[in-house]
Formats: sequence, structure tokens, C-alpha cells
Amino acid sequence: MKGKNKMEVRIVRESKKQKDKKVFVWFTHGKELENTQRELQYKKDDVVFVGADSKGVIKIKKYHAYENLMKCLCDNQKDRVNINKSLLINKFTSIFNLDKSYFRNKNEEYILKEVEKNNNVIKESLENKFECLSFKAKLADKLIIGLGGQSVFETDITLHHTYGIPYIPGQAIKGMFRNYIIQEYFKKCSHDCNEDCKNQCEKDAIKHKGFSSIFGGENDEEKSVSGKVIFMDSFPDSDFEIKTDIMTPHHGKYYNGTEQPLDTDEPNPIYFLVVERSKTTDLVFHINIAIDKSISNKKWNEDNGKNIDEFILENLIDALNFHGIGAKTSVGYGYFDIDKEEEKRKRNKEKEEKLKQQGEQEKIREYEKQKKLKEEEKSKKILEEEQKFKEATKNMSEFQIQFYKIDEITDSIKKNEEIIKLYNEKIDLLEELEQNELAEFVRKHLEFSGKWEYKSGKNKKVDKSSERVKKICNILKIEVPDKQFKKNSNLNLK
Ligand SMILES: [Zn+2]
Repeated sequence: MKGKNKMEVRIVRESKKQKDKKVFVWFTHGKELENTQRELQYKKDDVVFVGADSKGVIKIKKYHAYENLMKCLCDNQKDRVNINKSLLINKFTSIFNLDKSYFRNKNEEYILKEVEKNNNVIKESLENKFECLSFKAKLADKLIIGLGGQSVFETDITLHHTYGIPYIPGQAIKGMFRNYIIQEYFKKCSHDCNEDCKNQCEKDAIKHKGFSSIFGGENDEEKSVSGKVIFMDSFPDSDFEIKTDIMTPHHGKYYNGTEQPLDTDEPNPIYFLVVERSKTTDLVFHINIAIDKSISNKKWNEDNGKNIDEFILENLIDALNFHGIGAKTSVGYGYFDIDKEEEKRKRNKEKEEKLKQQGEQEKIREYEKQKKLKEEEKSKKILEEEQKFKEATKNMSEFQIQFYKIDEITDSIKKNEEIIKLYNEKIDLLEELEQNELAEFVRKHLEFSGKWEYKSGKNKKVDKSSERVKKICNILKIEVPDKQFKKNSNLNLK
């Protein structure tokens, strides 16, 4: 019940007595109370809060009946379905007054889409450091939803306090999974660990390397280490139905372990909320887990050759399928129906594709590396040539540098063109010294390429190149080479 001076009670019957037009009501304990909130009418089975005022007089604090409050909350019938369910169920009414089903509304549909987008952003941001493991868990039947303090069950599944949507907190998944692993892999005692082994099984588990790397535990020096796996909150991705379920254990004291079962035990109905699939679609929860890359490829242990990520996937599916999540009052609550082999196949395929992608990225990286090397080599060569050019031309005049540049040309036709061009442009404009240098440069070139010759025709007409040879000879004050000279020079060259 709710605190020291506030108590939730249920109306058993209305009072017939009407003193001064005030309405009186009866409570479970036979107390008759005045209704000070005149606008509200009580019916049998409504739930109200009562509490003592400053003088110690018990008074009705708040009326809790669903329909009336909904009327106060909003008049438009259509808008009602869009009210936050957490607010509605936890704050404005009580489970006793819920007599209808609630389905996923438009707001929630939108919120769930945003939640998924958010989750994808989170997953992307974790990608560098974490290996993400995702699968869809189809609910087999029903899941019990805890309602904070009001719930009689120890269950972590609840309506999200801001979204009002049923969800499984990551901590609940982690807790359930951790418990499952202890029971499956570390249990040595034959009964309940709590009583039988005084939790020795758990103490063994937290010293195990694989276990502590997932959930946190102790290292070899008995120092505590934190787990390297993140269990994210899990939300439904399809329509759902929330409704009241009821269970009537007849022998409460016997189940509590306080007394023997008796036929005279009063039935004590327990109301609780469940979420289940809608009539048309399966109810599927998205399970998202991020495993730190520093452990995901490590082995669970030496005997079990599975990698941590495979171990988690397979065991978590088993845990959800066979161990279930949340309170399980009888078979059918909190179990999932996940195809383990199918999920393993999907996971392997995902991994293969990732490797392939990595391979292709590797190839691209190698290509870029080679390209960069080549570019570096090229610029190195250019630098070297520049250096060489600087070195070779450091004592040269501008004019001599021009000769040098032409000498470096490897294409003989182009070289020839450049020489003739330089000659035609400059020979008549130069001072004597430079004119001599140019003439000597051209002569050497012509001689080297076998064009140092003077041909006079029958009418003593000469072609352009012979004209040029003659002019050079004049400048250099040497004899004009005739055919005879050419033969001799060829011989000399050989
Ligand atoms: Zn034990």
C-alpha cells in the first residue's frame, strides 16, 4: 500500500445513508466515510485513496475510477486512445478499474519508429569498439508487466515511464541471462542456490573469465571487473494488446510457506497486467546487444570452443525460449519462440559479408597505398631532376642554360626543331661572343646528327640548311664543309 498516511482501498458497497445530502461509502474494513468530492460518484469495486488529515480524521483523498477520470482528462473519445498508458495505468486509475484492452496507438507507433532510429544511431556510434548482435524475439504468448509498487510480482518488464510503451529494460535481459548462465554452466548444488549452496554457484561464476567478461565479476587478483557487453532496452516492433489478467491462488498461506493448505482458505484473486500479441500480428521484440571487440572473438573457455559472440547468441536465445523473462505464474508467461538455427545462419552470413567488405576495403587500401607510393616516387624523381639541373647549370649563363635544356631533349626531331628555332630567332640579334657560342652549339649538333654539310646545286643555288651552314662557318671563321669534308668527318667520327 501507499505510504504512511495514504492508503488505497476498494469500495465494497455504497452507503444507503444520506445525511445532509452527503454521500457516504463503505470500505473493506467496514468503515463508513464521507465523500467530500461531490462531483464524483462511487460504485462497487471502485478504488480510492484514503488518508488522515491534520486532525487525524480519515478522509477520501482521491477518486480513482477509470471512466470518470477519463471524462475529466479528455472529452473526446477518439483522443483517449492516445493517452500515455503509463500515465493512465500508474497514475490515474488502478488495475481494478481496467476492464478493457489497450492497443498500440498512433503516438506509440511514431515513438517506436523513433526509438528504432535512435537505436540504429547508437549501434553505428558503437561500431568501432563494439560488435553488434541483433535479433528479433517473437513472444510465444504473454508477458507480465510490472507496475512498480503496485505489482505483486517481481518483474522488471514495465511500461516505459515516458513513452508508456511496454518494453524490456536492458537490465532485465542482462539479469535473466546472467541467472540462466549460472544455472546452466555453474550450478553444482541440487536445489535452490539461495538456500542450498548459499550462492556458492554464483561466486564460482564471477571468477570465470568468460562470465566476468560478459557480466562483470572478479579477476585473478580478486579485484572486481566490469562486464564488456551492453544489453540495450528492447521494444516491440508490432501491434500489441495490454489487458488485465487474473489468477486466483486458493492457498496463499500454503504457497507462502507459512501454513498447511486448508479448504477454508479464502480465494485471493491477484490482478496483473499482461502484454500479448494483437489478433493479427506476432508480437516481436528487438533484442540489441553490443559486445566489446576486445572479447567478442575470444573463446568462452578452453573446453567450449565457441567465441564469446556465438556463445551469447546461442545461450541468450535458449534463455529467452526456455527460461523466459519476467514473472511466470504458470506456463505460458514470458517465453519466446526464436528459431535458433535460423538466427545462427543469419549471424554467420552477416559475418561473412562483413569479412568480404573488409577484404574489398583492404584491396582499395592496397591500391591507394600503391598509388601514393608511385606519386611519391614521381615527385622524388622530379625533385632529383630539379636538383641535377640546378647543379649542372649553376655556373651557366641564361643562354647556356637554354643550350643545356635543349641538350636534355631526347626526341631527336623535337630537339632539332628547338635548335633551328633558337638559331632563327637569335643569331642575328646577338653580341659577338654569344653569337659564336650559338653558332658553335648548332654546328656541333648538326655534325653529330650528320647534317653538317654544304650542298651547292648546278646553278650555284643552295637550300636553306646549306645557307645556314655557310653562315655558321662565317661566324666561326672556319671553312665550309664540302662533300669531301663530310666523308672525312664521317670517317673521323667512326
Ligand atoms: Zn547453487
